[in-house]
Amino acid sequence: MVMTQLAASNYRFYRWLIAGAVGIAILLTSLYTRYYQEVSKTEQNQRVLAARITNKLNELLLPAEQQTADTLPLVGQPCESVMPTLRYRAAQNQALRAILLVKNGTIYCSSLFGQRNFVFSNFFPTLVNDKVQMELHPSLVVAKGTPTLVLWTPLDKQESSSGVLNVFNIGLLANFLLEPQEPFAHRVVLNIGERSLEYGQKEITPTSAQSENLQYTAQSAKYPFSISLYGPNATDLALAALPHHIPLALMLSLLAAYVVYLSTANRMSMTYSISHAIAHHEFRVYCQPIINSENGRCAGVETLLRWKNKRQGWISPDVFIPLAEQHDLIIPLTRYLMTTVVENLNLFPQRPSFYISINVAAEHFNTVSIIDDIRHIWLPAEPMASLMLELTERTALSEVQHEQLKTLKEMGIMLAIDDFGTGHSSLSYLKKLSPDVLKIDHGFTAAIGTDAINATVTDTIITLAQRLKLKLVAEGVETEEQAEYLRLRKVNALQGYYFAKPMPIDVFPSWLQQYESRLRATGQQTKPEAGRPKANPSA
Ligand code: C2E
Ligand code: CA
Ligand code: CA
Repeated sequence: MVMTQLAASNYRFYRWLIAGAVGIAILLTSLYTRYYQEVSKTEQNQRVLAARITNKLNELLLPAEQQTADTLPLVGQPCESVMPTLRYRAAQNQALRAILLVKNGTIYCSSLFGQRNFVFSNFFPTLVNDKVQMELHPSLVVAKGTPTLVLWTPLDKQESSSGVLNVFNIGLLANFLLEPQEPFAHRVVLNIGERSLEYGQKEITPTSAQSENLQYTAQSAKYPFSISLYGPNATDLALAALPHHIPLALMLSLLAAYVVYLSTANRMSMTYSISHAIAHHEFRVYCQPIINSENGRCAGVETLLRWKNKRQGWISPDVFIPLAEQHDLIIPLTRYLMTTVVENLNLFPQRPSFYISINVAAEHFNTVSIIDDIRHIWLPAEPMASLMLELTERTALSEVQHEQLKTLKEMGIMLAIDDFGTGHSSLSYLKKLSPDVLKIDHGFTAAIGTDAINATVTDTIITLAQRLKLKLVAEGVETEEQAEYLRLRKVNALQGYYFAKPMPIDVFPSWLQQYESRLRATGQQTKPEAGRPKANPSA
């Protein structure tokens, strides 16, 4: 009883445990998913922002480069004559502040101021080169010192000291292009060579000075500049955002846990009602006599459980035994039966040749607990009667059970294979188990006199058992004809309605008394159930 109550509370505990585990798993999974999504979103945002700025700058520089191709032929021509064209072209590109023409290392013409005379290398020493180059440079004249971006295009390789210099208003553009995007980009920086420009900064700074918190850098495929994003780490951002997701994840996990809790209710309620039934003695132990076919005496009984449920009335063992097996309650149920039998041993004949048979589920047999139960429940009562365990032939035997079989044999416990002929028994199985008794299934008994094929199987089983020197018990004997047939073939014992239906164990002594007195009166012949007309007493 304590065991079954324990089983019920264990199940309740497991039900909570499973629901809790599922809830926690969902909570962690959804939080991790949100975390992962946040990290990806931040990284994606950083990539997109850097790519967008890079493209914008490319789009700004490209028309100027195309224009420069048209301007290059003007290099060397007098400033006064090309000024209107330069001014017109500079005006066409809003980002462009000025176009300067350089001839033999001298800036000689500006779209803004016309005639000039500056030594190019004094102002742009790194640009004296035969390649198209860019540089961030403080403004020379207009708004002196403010950042500009200069694009140098030399005339050709031979004439690298002559060319066109485009000057862009990058300081102004930076206010639009390099605007930070919170929370993933605190600072957006344009890098050209060793110099950088940042939103809101009025000065050009050395690139090397900016390395802390750098998250992403996008390099322009077309021009020698890059865009760097500085800000918090994507994982830090995701962690910071996590608390916002907790309420939803919590709701989701509670919902999942609740669904799991509800869905285990059926299982729990069946578990509970079987446990409750054991604890409240709703199960009754019945027994069915097994008759020695030779002398007609009652050789033993098979114990069978009955359940009288308060609400549903009698429930068949064919219903509750599989349920008890499914819900891990068959072991407590068998213990209950064994305990009840032990408490009522005085109801049975006190001789070793009388056996009490108990059905044992595969699961119970497959654990050593059956041996423990016999040791703790059966043996301490020192019963005079013998104990027989009925196993169906579907019980799969593993290596472990051989030791167990040996122990059972040593304890003097008999083994019977129940429902023999219905499963997949093989000779090797019989050899492994080496049972004392084979119980021929009802079906084969019912076939006697009606079903030729099954009757042949019945004969085969009988022959097999006799060859293997096993005792035979025929189940489901309902007619005199069947009893006679089996008796003639030397089947050792018979069980069935013909002799007696299963009865409550406390009814057994009076049944036995009546049966034996009739038996004595008719001269040691096998008798049908007391009160039932005798079909044919000859045996
Ligand atoms: P089983 O072990 O084959 O038990 C014999 C069944 O045949 C019993 O049904 C019994 O009432 C029925 N029976 C006996 N004589 C006749 C007959 O002449 N004709 C017919 N038609 N039936 C007969 P019951 O008691 O309903 O049990 C059904 C099954 O439930 C049992 O089959 C057994 O597998 C299982 N069972 C019953 N009690 C227990 C138990 O305590 N433990 C376990 N593990 N299983 C049990
Ligand atoms: Ca049985
Ligand atoms: Ca059976």
